[in-house]
Amino acid sequence: MNIHLSAAYSESYDFIVVGAGTAGGYLAHKLATSPYSPSVLLLENGPNTLSNNTNNPADNPNLKSLIPGNFAENVARPDTNYMYKTVPQKHLDDRVLVYHRGRGLGGTSNLNYMAWIKGYKGDFDEWAEIVGDQNYGSNEGWERIKRLESFDPKGLPKAYEKYASPDMSSHGTMGPIHNTLPTNPLPGMGSFIDGCVEAGIPRALDTNCGQNIGAGLVNMAIYKGARVSSATQCLNEEGDIGTGLIRPRNLEVRTDTKVEKILFDHKTAIGVQVEGGRKFFAKKEVIISAGFIDSPKLLLLSGIGPKADLQELGIKVVHDSPNVGKNMLDHSTVLLDPIFKQDLQVPTGNLLFSEPARVDAEKKLWLDTYQNGKGEARGEMARFGASAGVAFIKFTEEEREQWPEWQALSDEDRSRFLDKGRPDTEIFYLIGYKPPGKDFPEGTSPNSYARLFLLHQNHLARGTISLNSSNPSDAPVIDPQYFSHPYDVRISIETIKKAVEIFKTKALSAHFVGMEFKGCAEDPAWIQDSPEKAEENRLKAEQNGGFYVNGIDMTDKGIEHWLKSKGLDQGYHGMGTLRMGKAGDKMRVVDSKGRVVGVDGLRIADTSVIPVVMNNHPQVSAYLIADVVADGILRDHAASGKRQKRQKIIRRFD
Ligand SMILES: Cc1cc2nc3c(=O)[nH]c(=O)nc-3n(C[C@H](O)[C@H](O)[C@H](O)COP(=O)(O)OP(=O)(O)OC[C@H]3O[C@@H](n4cnc5c(N)ncnc54)[C@H](O)[C@@H]3O)c2cc1C
Repeated sequence: MNIHLSAAYSESYDFIVVGAGTAGGYLAHKLATSPYSPSVLLLENGPNTLSNNTNNPADNPNLKSLIPGNFAENVARPDTNYMYKTVPQKHLDDRVLVYHRGRGLGGTSNLNYMAWIKGYKGDFDEWAEIVGDQNYGSNEGWERIKRLESFDPKGLPKAYEKYASPDMSSHGTMGPIHNTLPTNPLPGMGSFIDGCVEAGIPRALDTNCGQNIGAGLVNMAIYKGARVSSATQCLNEEGDIGTGLIRPRNLEVRTDTKVEKILFDHKTAIGVQVEGGRKFFAKKEVIISAGFIDSPKLLLLSGIGPKADLQELGIKVVHDSPNVGKNMLDHSTVLLDPIFKQDLQVPTGNLLFSEPARVDAEKKLWLDTYQNGKGEARGEMARFGASAGVAFIKFTEEEREQWPEWQALSDEDRSRFLDKGRPDTEIFYLIGYKPPGKDFPEGTSPNSYARLFLLHQNHLARGTISLNSSNPSDAPVIDPQYFSHPYDVRISIETIKKAVEIFKTKALSAHFVGMEFKGCAEDPAWIQDSPEKAEENRLKAEQNGGFYVNGIDMTDKGIEHWLKSKGLDQGYHGMGTLRMGKAGDKMRVVDSKGRVVGVDGLRIADTSVIPVVMNNHPQVSAYLIADVVADGILRDHAASGKRQKRQKIIRRFD
């Protein structure tokens, strides 16, 4: 446990923040460095991911989490990933899906793939309209994001300059949360963008300017060759591994401390109780930033939620709030693996994965340079994995007119989806590698394939988070309800067809021989009854455009069957389970400043408050929410706080 306790604080603080994740870490730092210097206690269930507690950097998993090229191994780290499980998904052949969520300082920003994609400005305006607060809109909200970010456009290799031309008026350069363009684009990434353009998708020279339909390079939350998380940027103590801001002494952080209950005096939140029974009290407010799964769980355990459900579990009702845990929004994903041709000159990055000795040497170089270079890491691992390409795609009106699911949509949904700037789907181009023991067909690269994440935007499914007992140790019940809406199924089918179309273009078929569909190669029964039949299909596919699609039946029915039985996966981007809204909104749980409606002294600040599916990657939204809620708190308490000398904001290496 990490404690630096001043006797003056005893067990009572001005503010208690629960969850040192993406939003919570940033928010706690912002409160503590305000001119009123309030005492802030930040409680985190997971470990201290900033500690540098070993002489041998190679033994420090925290340091390894910051290596951009280590992102896949990092997700598999059990102490910093809850690895939740969904309930059987009834529209996906009852499959149970793993749902990744970060644990420990930095939360999911310490685990994610580091993409910094702000999204479509129209979504921010919709959010602002729903909640009646322009702090989330395309002007004020966007300016806030610019103030909290620091974009560095340098470092893009010359050959890739034609793929990016950032409009600096859309980016901030002074905030603590850094992002950069890819410094070592992945093999085939330029061809991916060219292929998209050949397939009719516009070129996006700046995927972070608020109008992101098109294909382009992805900004990454990376600084000097290392991962950027809320922890590395806001929560360091002297000697920690992050390169960002040092936390002030009036911000106390306790890790390995699980909050089990919010304490109330009638309807006012006065503190929290942690595992083991210890209590901490807040003189002003309690802020919950435990993420879209654990924040609703904590509210329900504490008696805020649908009255009948709470009573059934024997939980004393503090406030009947019917929508706690409802309205879960997400982007479901599909992973596809385009396979490189043997003759592609695979640049260094990709080969890393197939040569364990080189991987080890590169990791060592990263660790040595990061440790000795005051946070500036070098080598392949600093760059590789730190880059991606993306295409945000809008289907044409002619295309959608042919879909029965489109015809069945409400006028409201149709007009939302016809908005010219709002994408229907996203194809994210990342690195892949050949797992040991897996072979690809003759003529393909022995080493590697790319990996596509197809992220379905504008999901219409609405899921839930609930409890099945009043025991805080029991896992929450996570039911995303994937594919419960037929339009979501249609968009997934069309995205797969679009991905195959893109990879059949001249630009890409020069480098890729085909597409691997999860589960097909290992399961001959799946490939239409027999390996012989599969081979027959493969040849047919090859004759038909020379593109191998692993024998799956590429009709709409065939793709749908594959998606349901194998292909569709967790969304990674859950949100909305404690929806924000304005007065009169029957769905709302919190107001636009994060205040929980119906009680006092309690706020929510994390992605659970997002009221509408954002077509972005959500860490940006998490920081924005933290920024707005922190300002709301400071404004509400300004009158009661004595202005003090502002805490100096100190960076570790400035
Ligand atoms: C594998 C993966 C890849 C992703 N890639 C990207 C990407 O490239 N770009 C992007 O923008 N987004 C990405 N995301 C999503 C994004 O990172 C998250 O949506 C966002 O960071 C969530 O922020 P948050 O503040 O809402 O919650 P979190 O960051 O999850 O923080 C919640 C914190 O609360 C703590 N907590 C929970 N319960 C308790 C309790 N009872 N007591 C004390 N502490 C508690 C948790 O341990 C955690 O630290 C990815 C997500 C995953 C899983």
